[in-house]
Amino acid sequence: MLILNQPDTGDLEVITQVHCVCCNCTNEVFFEGNSKEIAAIKLEQLGWRTYERTDEIGGNTCPTCIEDLKEISLEEDSEQETPYD
Ligand SMILES: [Zn+2]
Repeated sequence: MLILNQPDTGDLEVITQVHCVCCNCTNEVFFEGNSKEIAAIKLEQLGWRTYERTDEIGGNTCPTCIEDLKEISLEEDSEQETPYD
C-alpha cells in the first residue's frame, strides 16, 4: 500500500530576499535576509549610504555613487574657500 501526503512543511525553509536599488544609477543588489534592519547593516558594510546635501536628500546610494559624491563635495568645498589676498 502507498499513501501520498502533502510535502512536509517542517523540511521547508523560507528564504527572504532583500532588493536594494541605487537612487542615483539604478544599480541593484539582491541578497538573502530576513529583516530590513539586518539588511541595512549589511548594505552599510558594503558601502551603501543615504546622504544629505545642502540642496538634496538622497535615498539608498551605491558605493560607486557615494565615492563620486565625496569627490564632488571635496571640489565644492575647495571652490568655496575664499583666498585672503
Ligand atoms: Zn549608484
